[in-house]
Amino acid sequence: GREWHLTARPHGWPKAEDFALREAPVAAPAEGRVLVRNLHFSVDPYMRGRMNDVKSYTPPFKLDHPMDGGAVGEVVASNAEGFQVGDHVLHGLGWREYASVPAQHAVKVDGSIAPLSAYLGVLGMPGLTAYAGLFDVASFKEGDAVFVSGAAGAVGSQVGQMAKIKGASRVIGSAGSDEKVKLLTEEYGFDAAFNYKNGPVAEQLRKAAPDGIDVYFDNVGGEHLEAAISSFNLHGRATICGMIAQYNATEPTPAPRNLALVIGKRLRLQGMLVADHQDLQQQFVQDVAGWLNSGELKYRETVVEGIENGVDAFLGLLRGENTGKMIVSLG
Ligand code: NDP
Repeated sequence: GREWHLTARPHGWPKAEDFALREAPVAAPAEGRVLVRNLHFSVDPYMRGRMNDVKSYTPPFKLDHPMDGGAVGEVVASNAEGFQVGDHVLHGLGWREYASVPAQHAVKVDGSIAPLSAYLGVLGMPGLTAYAGLFDVASFKEGDAVFVSGAAGAVGSQVGQMAKIKGASRVIGSAGSDEKVKLLTEEYGFDAAFNYKNGPVAEQLRKAAPDGIDVYFDNVGGEHLEAAISSFNLHGRATICGMIAQYNATEPTPAPRNLALVIGKRLRLQGMLVADHQDLQQQFVQDVAGWLNSGELKYRETVVEGIENGVDAFLGLLRGENTGKMIVSLG
């Protein structure tokens, strides 16, 4: 089967030459493992960080080894109790056609409840990030005005809708195209949205949230975070989830110039990692499945077909070519 290797550590924006699609042998699964034919794998912003050789919360990808990440596939051979050929499983060995997965790292998923790709998005890691980041980390409460950046993406689109469902007084989103902005207000029920490429974020946010904001869900960092600090009401809370605006930066990026406002406004800026919130998994799946069923929660996916287009899908994600979760499907 084919698999994507990282062959050089990117400096700044990754280039196609930093990756290679290579053939690897497919063997019968060893004791305690299942052989999975991947059907979909995930490309995620955090993978950019794993391409650097720096110590972080996830280890760097090894050069000339297959990259990994979330995937769903079909068991084609099993040497593990409890797994049968034909089972669908979620696991962590994406970026390849065939994966030999230790049974304890495979979670059975049900394609009759939701399309299998949804376990990489709305019902998976990004969905839990939105749920935990809003309800737990930001201590969201009914009546809060919520601002979310990256609002048309996998995490952001769920944050805004979940806030509406739970009684936010106002939900504002920012995204990188007029089409995405339209989706936010016309389909996802955001009260206001703007295209951050159309003018200064602080000014656009002030117009969209004339009474200020209580919660900011940060997927972007930089100018967005600075604008949110300016628009915060007293005791505002920010979930610092991602800072995608600086993932390809080659120089340290400036901090928000207005950070001193944190003092007088008594703001709380709290970083999060979704892995710390597994305790919410059951409640998350129950709530989200219910909201999907009732039609209260909507989602989009951008599906790129073919493993050979996996790197292009990843680069497209960093450029904003996705609406909702970016998925690579292997047909
Ligand atoms: P998205 O689906 O949101 O895709 C990334 C989006 O980022 C693009 O579609 C693009 O949309 C936007 N973007 C790219 N460059 C910029 C920029 N310079 N300024 C503003 N927006 C930009 O990805 P996810 O939903 O998977 O992830 C969203 C964020 O959450 C990321 O920062 C990610 O790292 C973080 N994350 C953190 C987790 C945690 O545990 N802390 C877990 C999961 C995700 P546009 O067209 O709007 O520019």
